[in-house]
Parts: sequence; structure tokens; C-alpha cells
Amino acid sequence: FILGICSINRSNLCCDQRFATTPSSFSVIQSSLKQLKIEGYFSFKNFDHVAKDFGNRYHFLPSAVLYPKSVSDISSTLKHIFDMGTTTDLTVAARGHGHSLEGQAQAYRGVVISMESLRAPAMRFHHAGELPFIDVSAGELWINILHESLKLGFTPKSWTDYLHLTVGGTLSNAGISGQAFKHGPQINNVYQLEVVTGKGEVITCSKEQNADLFYGVLGGLGQFGIITRARIALQPAPKKVKWIRVLYSDFSTFSNDQEQLISSKDSFDYVEGFVIINRTGLLNNWRSTFNPKDPLLARKFSSEGKVLYCLEVAKYFNPEDTPNTDQNIDVLLSKLNYIEFTLFQSEVSYVEFLDRVHVSEMKLQEKNLWDVPHPWLNLLIPKSRILDFAQEVFGKILTDTSHGPILIYPVNKSKWIKGTSMVMPEEDVMYLIAFLSSAMPSSTGKDGLEHILYKNKKILNFCNKAHIGMKQYLPHYTTQEDWKVHFGPRWETFARRKSTYDPLSILAPGHRIFERAS
Ligand code: FAD
Repeated sequence: FILGICSINRSNLCCDQRFATTPSSFSVIQSSLKQLKIEGYFSFKNFDHVAKDFGNRYHFLPSAVLYPKSVSDISSTLKHIFDMGTTTDLTVAARGHGHSLEGQAQAYRGVVISMESLRAPAMRFHHAGELPFIDVSAGELWINILHESLKLGFTPKSWTDYLHLTVGGTLSNAGISGQAFKHGPQINNVYQLEVVTGKGEVITCSKEQNADLFYGVLGGLGQFGIITRARIALQPAPKKVKWIRVLYSDFSTFSNDQEQLISSKDSFDYVEGFVIINRTGLLNNWRSTFNPKDPLLARKFSSEGKVLYCLEVAKYFNPEDTPNTDQNIDVLLSKLNYIEFTLFQSEVSYVEFLDRVHVSEMKLQEKNLWDVPHPWLNLLIPKSRILDFAQEVFGKILTDTSHGPILIYPVNKSKWIKGTSMVMPEEDVMYLIAFLSSAMPSSTGKDGLEHILYKNKKILNFCNKAHIGMKQYLPHYTTQEDWKVHFGPRWETFARRKSTYDPLSILAPGHRIFERAS
């Protein structure tokens, strides 16, 4: 028997559902998949690891896991299931590194494809021309791409804050971090993709070739095809990073400075920020990695009971350019209006800077605090309403930030390529706000799952009631009606692409956008 268990039974969001596949239907699925001639293999047991993700709230057991060795393993499997038509309700989910939050890479009673097993093609660099790039398997982790590229003195341009994610996983969403204001998100920095559609066809696509599929797949939540290979833009890599944090107590001053930084040509290489509500000992905590520019005066600054906004910026450089870099940074900082004496800085290698979240991961792993439920909420808020949002959410709804960081930074949409599946607010400048909460497994208090979900709901309700024009990033909805509202006028294109490339709705069932044809 195969049991699929949705584990959120403590809140009323989802009951303790149990499903069973009869032994006979299970053996039919097994023998049908076993007929396929593939280079990799199927596993029909030990599924727990693929029925789990970083969110740690949804656990849906599949019927099989494919460990592909080649693209043709993936295309044969999809073609086989497509050819079975409506005689089966088998679905297929590509699983990258499984860092989804709400079961998006899971397939209840379906087939999960472990994309990290797909090692082909091996990473291949083309760095002689004007536009250097690297071809990678979509199951590759960004951290590995970084290390390999650096060996040749190159680097991808746009990142996520955490690099232990796969190329296919982030390109299915967008891949946004502090470099996005300059280079756009990761989906901006891809020249070509190889995709296996829901019919099993293998299609190479780019802006010039099969463009409809190319744009559809970027930010497409895995709905139109499984990305098997990606051609990623590179640039020469810097060796070092000056990493700086400054504090604000006034939101408008903070956001004006952020907006000024993302709009000027000569700026930092990375601009982010975060909110701190009612934290004590804040400045002392920073001592380990950041040094106050003026230690004596910084020590007098008290964060207790306050809402503070921390601007985080970084400038890349090579050691031989240090004097120039310092001068540039001084000029940039002189235009900002942060609280005097709250300038903290650090100098780290480029790898240390990009892989910074992994350091926190290892610390949390040690304390068994990494595999807890993560009821994250990621929102995109148009610039014109960011003040209303901040006043209500940071001033009233949230009383502290002790269960996880809240990131906040603007990005300039004019830098983003148009026509991808990613959904954004209408305005040119929008803020990414990420509530990155961790819930303590057995707590019924403020750090428990129920309380955090309640606060998330309050934030969403406020956005709806106040017509903030918010769009979810890494969106999660449970009905097609909600998805239609999310996509707005772009729903028609999204649905048309689905019926073209995955007409039986076999792919990515975890998003619950389309129902499998049966
Ligand atoms: P999975 O969770 O395995 O899959 C995600 C979705 O993509 C699923 O629907 C899956 O079916 C689909 N998919 C996976 N591989 C493929 C493929 N090859 N082809 C087609 N579809 C595929 N995001 C940001 O933008 N910026 C950040 O800074 C950021 N930081 C993060 C930090 C942490 C600690 C975590 C856990 C997540 C973060 N994310 C961030 C979110 C992250 O980008 C997404 O959750 C991403 O989907 C995770 O990649 P993955 O390889 O684990 O994908």
C-alpha cells in the first residue's frame, strides 16, 4: 500500500488526509513503468525523502521515483504516460533539491523525477566569445556551478540568497536576490533551454527558437515541461566583496535610499535589506562577522523595543582595486541617510559572500533546527503602496521578528525580460518582502506553526482589503479560481500554453493549478 499523508493537521487548513492505492493498481503502474528501456532506474520503495520538502508541511507519497541518467529517460517516461492517455491518472513532478515550501515538487501517487541524478550533459564552458556562457544539466546545484565557473575566472550574474538549489527549480520560479536590480532575476540570464514537454517531446528553445515555450517555462512553475539543460550567462568573476550594513529607524528614509541605490547607474553590486522588530542585543550579535566603523559610539546604540530597517549592500572588487573601491563606496554611502554610527562592514571572499546562507544552515543543522516547518510568505508589493504595507505590517500586525528574518528590497522591473510566466505587480519598481519564518515543531506559542500561519493570513487579508496590488512570489493557492486571480489577464496565455505543451496536465501537480485529465 502507498499512503499519502498531508501533515498539516494541527491547523484547520488541511485535515489529516490519508489516501490509498490498491495493490492491484500499484502493480499495474509498476509493471507498466518497468517495461521502459531506460539508462537510469525506477524505484518503487523508500519514498520518504521525495514526499518531503523544505516547507516540511506537506508529505505526499508517489508511486515511483525515476532516477534518470539521460534526457531520453525523462522523455521516454513522459511519452509513455502521455500515450496511456486517460486510462491512468499518473502525474509527474520534477524534483530539484526539494526546497519548495508547499509540496510543489511532490506528486501524490505519481512519478517523481529526481533531477539531481541527471548528470548529463557535464558542465561545458564557452568563454571565448563576447557573451560567455555555461551549459549545465538542470539538476545541477548553483553552488557547484559557482565553484566550477570560478576555476576559469567566471561567474553567473544573478543569484538567489541560498545556492543549494537546482537550476531547474529556481528557473521555474524566477531566482531573485540582491543582484536582480542590476541584472534582472536568474530567468533573465538564460540564453537557451532544453525542455521535455508533457508529451515527451525534447525541444530546444530560446528567444529566437520556440520562443513561446522558452518564455512559458521561465517562471512557469514546471507546468509546460521539464527543463533538462540550461545555457546560463557568465561574466568575469571578482575575488572579494565589501559587505556593508547600515540601520534606519524611519521606513521612508530607508526605502528612499534603497530606491535611489537601485536606480543609479553607478551603484553597489548587491542591494537588499531586512526588518528588525523588537530585538535585543542586536549590535553585539553582529560582532562575529561585521565590524562597526565607529565601535565606541556604536556600542551606545540600543535596538531594544524598536522597529529598525537594515540596508545591506555589497561591492565586488579585486584586491588590486582596493583604493578605488573604498573611494567609490565612500561616495555611495555619503548619499545615504542612515543613523549615524550604525555602519557595519566586513570584507569576505566572493564565494563566502554568495554562500552566506549555507553558514547559517550548518549552524541550524547542528541544533536540529533546519528541518522544522517553514511557513514562509513571499510577496511582491508595488512601490506606490509600500509605505501603507510597512505601516500596517511592521507597525501593527507583527510585534517581533524572532522566528526568522524578514527581507525587504526593491527591484526595478524595467530590467526584467517581458513575456515570461512570472507574475508581478503592475508598477516598474516593486518590493520583494520575504517572511522567512521557522516554526518550532511542538510549540503552541508565538513561535508555533499555527500562530505564524495566522499572522501570514492577516498580512494577506490586509493586502486584499487595502487593494495593495500585491502578487505572491513562490505562489501557493489551492483552487484554480485563486490561480486565475493570481495570473489576472495573463491566465489565458498560461492556460493556452498548458494545453499546448502538457494537454493531459501530467506535469507539476503539486501546484494544484490544473487537474489531471482522466
Ligand atoms: P524544487 O523544490 O525541487 O522544485 C520547485 C518547483 O520547480 C517544483 O514545482 C518542481 O516540480 C519544479 N522543478 C524542479 N526542477 C525542475 C526542472 N528541471 N524543470 C521543470 N520544473 C522543475 N528563491 C529566490 O528566488 N531567491 C532566494 O533568495 C531564495 N532563497 C531561498 C533560500 C532557501 C533556504 C530556500 C529553501 C529557498 C529559497 N528560494 C529562493 C526559493 C527557491 O528558489 C525555490 O523554492 C526553488 O524552487 C527551490 O529549488 P529546488 O531545486 O529545491 O526546487
